[in-house]
Amino acid sequence: MKKIVITGGLGYIGTELCKIYSGYSWNDKITVIDNRFISERVNQIRNWNMNFVHGDILDKELIRKYCKDADIVHHLAGITAVPRVKSEANAEHEKKIEEVAIEGTQNIIDSIKDDCKIILPSTHVVYEGMQDVKKNILENEDTLPVLAYGKSKAFNEKQLKESGKNFIILRLGSVYGYSTDTTRLDIMTNLFSKISSQDGLLKLYAGGRQIKSLVPLIDVARCFKFMEEKEDISSEIFNLTKDTVTVKDVAEICKKYNPKIELKETNDEVPNLGFSLSNEKILKKGFKFLYGLDESIKEMIFKWSKQDLIKDLEHVRDGTDEFIDERGKISNHELTEPINMIGLIDSKKGTIRANHYHPQQEQKCLFTKGQIIEIFQDILNPNSPKITQVVNEGQISIIKPNVAHTMVFTKDTTFLNLVRGEREHENYGVTHTIKHTFVDEDERDLLLGCYKFDCRSCGNTKLKRVLSLGYQPLANNLLKKKSEKTELYPLEMNYCDKCHNCQLSVAVDPKKMFSNYLYTSSTSKVFRNHFIEASKKYIKDFKLKPKKSYIIDIGSNDGVALKPFIDLNFKKVLGIEPAKNLAKLANKNKIKTLNAFLTEKNIKKIKKNADLILASNVFAHSDNLDEMATCMIKLLNETGTIIIEVQYLMNTLKDLTFDNIYHEHYNYWSLTSLINFFKKYKVKVFKAEKINTHGGSLRIYISKNKKTKIDQSVKKIFNEEEKFGIKNYKTYKLFGEKVYKIRDNVLKNINKIRQKEKVLVGYGAPAKATTALNFFGITNQIDYIIEDNKLKNNKFVPGVKIPIISKDKITRKPSCVIVLAWNFFEDIKKNNSSIAQKFINIKDLEN
Ligand SMILES: [Zn+2]
Repeated sequence: MKKIVITGGLGYIGTELCKIYSGYSWNDKITVIDNRFISERVNQIRNWNMNFVHGDILDKELIRKYCKDADIVHHLAGITAVPRVKSEANAEHEKKIEEVAIEGTQNIIDSIKDDCKIILPSTHVVYEGMQDVKKNILENEDTLPVLAYGKSKAFNEKQLKESGKNFIILRLGSVYGYSTDTTRLDIMTNLFSKISSQDGLLKLYAGGRQIKSLVPLIDVARCFKFMEEKEDISSEIFNLTKDTVTVKDVAEICKKYNPKIELKETNDEVPNLGFSLSNEKILKKGFKFLYGLDESIKEMIFKWSKQDLIKDLEHVRDGTDEFIDERGKISNHELTEPINMIGLIDSKKGTIRANHYHPQQEQKCLFTKGQIIEIFQDILNPNSPKITQVVNEGQISIIKPNVAHTMVFTKDTTFLNLVRGEREHENYGVTHTIKHTFVDEDERDLLLGCYKFDCRSCGNTKLKRVLSLGYQPLANNLLKKKSEKTELYPLEMNYCDKCHNCQLSVAVDPKKMFSNYLYTSSTSKVFRNHFIEASKKYIKDFKLKPKKSYIIDIGSNDGVALKPFIDLNFKKVLGIEPAKNLAKLANKNKIKTLNAFLTEKNIKKIKKNADLILASNVFAHSDNLDEMATCMIKLLNETGTIIIEVQYLMNTLKDLTFDNIYHEHYNYWSLTSLINFFKKYKVKVFKAEKINTHGGSLRIYISKNKKTKIDQSVKKIFNEEEKFGIKNYKTYKLFGEKVYKIRDNVLKNINKIRQKEKVLVGYGAPAKATTALNFFGITNQIDYIIEDNKLKNNKFVPGVKIPIISKDKITRKPSCVIVLAWNFFEDIKKNNSSIAQKFINIKDLEN
C-alpha cells in the first residue's frame, strides 16, 4: 500500500488527478489537502475513500503530520490567480504568491522522507523573459522568469534540485480543457472558448501571431500518475506540452465550432512573439497524449453555450457519444448536477403515474425500457397550455420545477428516477412533491387511443416537436349548446428528421371528422374556377379524350373537380368521397361518386386503369398514407398520371399561418417530404408547381412509367426548399418560437383593446379561428362572433365557447370588430361598413 498526498486537490489539475486516483484509493492511502472547502467536492472525495484535510501548506505542523510518512507527494497547491502581464502585478500580491510557493514547498521538503517522490508542476512561464522567438526549448535551457509566478516556480525548481530528495518537475505548457474550476477561465484557450460560447468577439493582439505551447488538462493529470508509477525516473525535469500553435490558430478552431463569433486582429506590437517547449524528452519516456485541442475547444464551447431550456416545456434528450459494436450500443447522458439517489421504477402498460409537480427540483428520468406519453403544464403561468411528448427507451426526460406532469405508460416500462436531495415519502406534499391531478383516466384512454408514435411516412419513432397549440377541440365541430361537452385532443406538430415529414402528435378517428362534412368546395367561386382551369390544363397536357379517358378524383367532396370534365363531355369520371352527405349531393348532380374511404377493400368494386387520378387536399387528411398511395397506384394505368395538391408547408412556415394546423390535417407536406414518401413505391414525381389555393399549395405529378422525363421544376423547388432549411430541425424550431411570440402579442393587444371597448365582436368562424382562439386562450374578451354562413349561426366555437350569431341579430352596434377570417379581411370590411366604425385584422395584432 502506497501513501499518497495530493496538495491543492480541489484545484484545476487536482480535481482531475483525484478522479484518476478514485480507482486506486481502495488499495492506496490517499490524502487530499486543500485550503478551500467545496462541499460537493469534499463529499465526492470522501466517497472515493480518500481522506480530505482542510488546511494550508503554510501550516508546518499540519504538513508534517500528513507528509512525514508519505511515499508520494503531488504538490499542486499554490496561488493560481496570478497576473499574466507586468501592468497587472502589485507588490503585495506578488509577495503572497512567492511566500506560498516558497515557504509551502519548503515545508513539504522538510517533512518528507528521503525516498518520498515529490512531483511538482512548474511552468513554461519560467522562460517569459526570453527576448527572441525561440522554438522547442529543451529542459536544460536556463530559466528567465520576470513576474512573481514564474520567479516562484523557478525558485521551487531550485529548492527541489538542492534538496537531495527524489523529485520530478513537470514544466507545463498553458493548460486547457473543460473544468468547473472558474479560476482557470483566464487561460487563453479556455477564455477563447468561453467567449465563443457566448457568441463574443476574440481580439487577436499583434494579429494573433504569438506562439504558445499548450497541453490538455486531463493529459496533465495523467502524466502526474504516470510519473508516480515510473520507478526508474527520479530527480528529473520534463517539459509537458502537446500542441505548439499560434493564438490565431486557437481562434480559428473556435470560429469553426461557432461561426457566429467575430475575430478582430489588432496590429500592435508585443514584446515578443512567444516561445515553445520541446516535448521530445517526455515522449521518449513513453508518455502518450490522449486528448486534443480541437475536441477540447468543441467541448468547452458546447458546454458553456446558451441553451434555451426554460422556454420549451418539452424536453426529451437522446444520449450522446454513441459507441456501437457487435455487442450492442453505449450512449451517455451527462447531467449538470450531482445525483445522490436513483429510483428504479417499473410500470405496467396502460397505467398512470405522477399527476404532481416538484416546487424546487428538476426531475430527470432515464428510460431503459418501454415508452410513455408524458403530459405537462406550467402551473406558474395560468395561460400555459397542456402539452404532450413521447419518451422512448434510451431517452432522458427533464421536467422543470413547478411543471405539473403525468406519465401514461404505453408499454411495460422501466425508468430510473435521478434525484438530487432526499426523497422520503413522508415528505410527499410538503416540499418535494405536490399532488396535482390534471390527467384523469378518460384522458389517458383518449391518448392511448389516438397517439401517433411513428412517422406516418417512414416509420421513424424519434419525432421532434415543432409546436404545441395546446389541447384543442375538433375545429369544425361547432357546439349546439354552450353546455355541450367537447372532446379535447392535443394539437401539436412534430417533425421527422429522417424524411422531413411533419405530422400531428395524434390521429383523431376520421369518422369523427369526415363522415358528415359541412364544407362544400363548390360554394367557393375561387375553387370552382381553380378546378375549371386545372381541367383545361390537364386535358391539353395529357391529351385526354372525352370518350376514352378515365378520370378518378379521390376525396371528391361535392364533385367540384370533376364537374368541369363532365361539362366538357367526359363520360368516364368517378369520385370517391367518404362523407355521406357530400357523396349524395354529388350523385344528385349527376357526378358519379362512390361513398367510401379509399381502402384496398373498397377499390375492389372499382374499375382500374385510370388515365388521370386527382387528389386535392386529401393527402393531408390521411392517417393511412400507405394504403392511400397503394390504392391510387393500383387504380392507375401504366401511362397515367396522379396529380396531388397539398397545402404547402413552406407557406405555413414562411407566413406563420399556424392556424392552418388542425386535427383534420394529419400531415404537412413539402416537395422534399413527398419525394421521400413516394420513393418506396417506385413511382416518379416528375413535375411540381406552386399554386395559390389555401394560402399556398403545392401540386405534384406522379407517373409509374420509368421512361417519364423529370421536369426541371422538381429540381428547382427541391433546391429552394433545401436552401430555406426544410431539412434542418432549427427551421421548424424557429417557426415554433415565432408562433409562441404571436400568442403573447395577440393576447396582450386584445386585452388592451378590450379595456377600451364595452362590447368586442369577432367576425367569421372558420376552422382557423377555432385553432387561433383556443391557442391564444381568448374567451370572454370577445362577446360574440358574426358569421355569414347560416349553418354556423346560433352555435358556439368549441373550446372557448364564444357564441356565433348572424348579422341581423346584433342589438347594439359595436364600435370595434376583430376580423377572425383574416384572409377575407378586405371583403368583410367593405361589406359591413354599416355595422361598425372600426375593423381590425387579427393578423395585425400579432406584432
Ligand atoms: Zn419520417
